[in-house]
Amino acid sequence: MAFEGLASRLQNVFGKLKGKGKVSEEDVSEAMREVRLALLEADVNFKVVKEFIAKVKERAIGQDVMKSFTPGMVIIDIVNKELTELMGGTQSKLAKANKPPTVIMMAGLQGAGKTTTSGKLAKLLQKGNHKPLLVACDIYRPAAIKQLQILGEQIGAPVFSMGDQTNPVEIARAAIQHAKENNNDYVIVDTAGRLHIDEALMEELKQIHATVKPDEVLLVIDAMTGQDAVNVAESFHSQLALSGVVLTKLDGDTRGGAALSVKAVTGCPIKFAAMGEKIDSLEPFHPDRMASRILG
Ligand code: GDP
Repeated sequence: MAFEGLASRLQNVFGKLKGKGKVSEEDVSEAMREVRLALLEADVNFKVVKEFIAKVKERAIGQDVMKSFTPGMVIIDIVNKELTELMGGTQSKLAKANKPPTVIMMAGLQGAGKTTTSGKLAKLLQKGNHKPLLVACDIYRPAAIKQLQILGEQIGAPVFSMGDQTNPVEIARAAIQHAKENNNDYVIVDTAGRLHIDEALMEELKQIHATVKPDEVLLVIDAMTGQDAVNVAESFHSQLALSGVVLTKLDGDTRGGAALSVKAVTGCPIKFAAMGEKIDSLEPFHPDRMASRILG
């Protein structure tokens, strides 16, 4: 499971602090040094780590930690709050259009989990009594359309497709019309990815964006790719104005760096986390719960 290494290291650091009867300033500094190392080893962006430690220290001084009866506990509480802040503070909800349909554009590199996540998101929306329409705009990856159709069948959601010979911009435009005519209150547009970011891909995404004017642009990133995922996010964000991120594969052996860095580096909140291949393994992302999970 994600964060295991980081969680066990931090729990170890704070366990030592909690176990002490009297905590000296030196103990706190030592703990902060270990926290810093643990974050770096978890592949958190080094600038993010630096700022994080500075903020924790600032709060600790502000709260006069050493004068409290339980300095260890106070420090843990501060780290918990800062970790929560780092991941966005409060839960960031999916946007909703004033007038339906709400259009959600999914973007990301090939293999990040876009198509799977589109299906999972449709399922989540169905649970909230919505009527999502899935749109197959990835006409390049062989079998992507079929994959979306199978997902749609599995959950009983309609899939709009015009095959792989029509321009994705046209498909997206027609899909919105279709949604309006069929009372679909959400439209999830699954776009094409590439193995690497390239200009043709970005150009197509920008055109789809300009055509459907999405209420939400979600970048799907594979948490297993660590810092690379954050670089990908930065680069998509500079071109597409993302409104949120979906982190996938948090069930894998990820070190957690992407989850902890992406909000700070791009300013985009993590809106959902996917933790498995199953259709119901997508959850709204709660920064506070994730922080508590990491600190044990
Ligand atoms: P796309 O190219 O971005 O559309 O990626 P796909 O949706 O086809 O996903 C690529 C692979 O990642 C598939 O084998 C998915 O089953 C898998 N996948 C997607 N999300 C998750 C996840 O949260 N956990 C795990 N373990 N696998 C995932």
